[in-house]
Amino acid sequence: FTVLALESSADDTCAAVVTSDRRILSNVVVKQHKEHEKYGGIHPFVAIEAHQRNMPGAVRRALDEAKMNVTDVDGIAFTRGPGMGGCLSVNANAAKTLAAALNKPLVGVHHMQAHALTPLLTSPPDQIPKYPFLTLLISGGHTLLLLARSPTSFETLATTNDESIGQTFDSVSKLLQIPWSSLGPGDALEKFCLTSPDLHDTPPVITPPFPRPMPKRLQFSYACLHSHVERYVATKDAPLGNEERLALARAFQRAAVGQLEEKVLMGLERCQEMGVSVGHLVVSGGVASNMFLRERLRICLDLFSKKHSPIRLVFPPPSLCTDNAVMIAWASMHRFLAGDYDDYSVTLRSKWKIEDLLKTDEELAY
Ligand code: ATP
Ligand code: FE
Repeated sequence: FTVLALESSADDTCAAVVTSDRRILSNVVVKQHKEHEKYGGIHPFVAIEAHQRNMPGAVRRALDEAKMNVTDVDGIAFTRGPGMGGCLSVNANAAKTLAAALNKPLVGVHHMQAHALTPLLTSPPDQIPKYPFLTLLISGGHTLLLLARSPTSFETLATTNDESIGQTFDSVSKLLQIPWSSLGPGDALEKFCLTSPDLHDTPPVITPPFPRPMPKRLQFSYACLHSHVERYVATKDAPLGNEERLALARAFQRAAVGQLEEKVLMGLERCQEMGVSVGHLVVSGGVASNMFLRERLRICLDLFSKKHSPIRLVFPPPSLCTDNAVMIAWASMHRFLAGDYDDYSVTLRSKWKIEDLLKTDEELAY
C-alpha cells in the first residue's frame, strides 16, 4: 500500500511517499525560517501564505522523487491536528481535493502520534520497539512522557503546565542573540554550544545555578529555566560577552536535558509500580535531534539498565525528528490497511490530546 502524505501544522511544508513495507520513497520538507526569523517566531499569516505557495510544488517533488504517477498512490494522508488552525487547513484542503479527484481513501493523522511512531518505521527490523514502550515527545509545542500500549493507546505520565522544552530552547536562543540556523533557534543554540573545543564543559562558574523545578513530581516545567536566563540578562548593563553567552547557553542546555533525564527515570519507576514492563524508550520530536541530549540519555539509560532491567533507547534519524510528512504517512498506514478511512467532512483539531485519539467530535463536545 502506497501513501502520499502532506503536513503543514506549523512552519514546514512537507510531502512524502511511504509504502506499507517500510520504504520511504520520498521526503520533501520546505523550510520557512527565512520568512520567520525577522518576527522572532512563527508568524501565523506568513506561515499560511508560505504553505499555500509551497504545497503544490512539494507534492509534485514528492511524486517525482518517488518516481511515481499520482494515480499509482493508494491513499492520501494529512495532519488533522494538533497545530495552528490556518496552517492545518492548507494540508487538509489539498489532501481532501487530491483524494476526491483521484477517488482514493483519505486519513487524517494526529501529529504527536506520528512523532511517536516514527521509530517503528526507521529502526532496523530486529530493533523495532515493542509495546508497551515509554515515549518522550519533545518538540516546539509539547513535552510529553507517555506510556504507549498500542499505536492508538497512549497514557500521559508527565507533561508541562507552562512552556514546552522546544519553546524554551527557542526563547533562550533569542535572549542570547544567537542567529538562527536553517533548523531554527533551538538547533542554533546547540551548534553555538559546540563553538569551542571544550565540549559542553561550562567555563569557571559565572552563572548562578539553574533551578531544578518540582524534583519530586512527575511533571515538567521549563518556564523557570527561561525566566532564569531572562533575569540574568536583564541584570546586566552591557551586552553579554561571548564567553558569558557560551557559559549560559551550555548551562541552560545541561539543565534542560538534566530535567529530561530525571523525569525519564521517574517514569520508568512509575511503570514498575504500575506492573508494566517496558523494554524501550522512544524519543522523538524536533528537540530529539539534539546530539548532547542523545548522549546524556544514553549514559543515563545505560546506568539504569545495569541496575534494573535493560531499556533500549531509540531515536529516529535527526531529519525525521523535526516535522516531516514521512511520519504522517507511516502513522496513517494501520488505518488504511484496516479500511478505516475519513470522510471529506473530517474536522480539524488544532487542540487534540493524544489520549483522545479515538474519540469522535461528539465525544469531545466541540
Ligand atoms: P509540535 O510537534 O509540538 O506540534 P513543532 O511541530 O513545531 O511542534 P517540531 O518540528 O517537532 O515542533 O520541533 C521543533 C522544535 O524543536 C523547535 O522548538 C526547535 O527549536 C527545536 N529543535 C530543533 N532542533 C533542535 C536541537 N538541535 N536542539 C534543541 N532544540 C531543537
Ligand atoms: Fe512536530
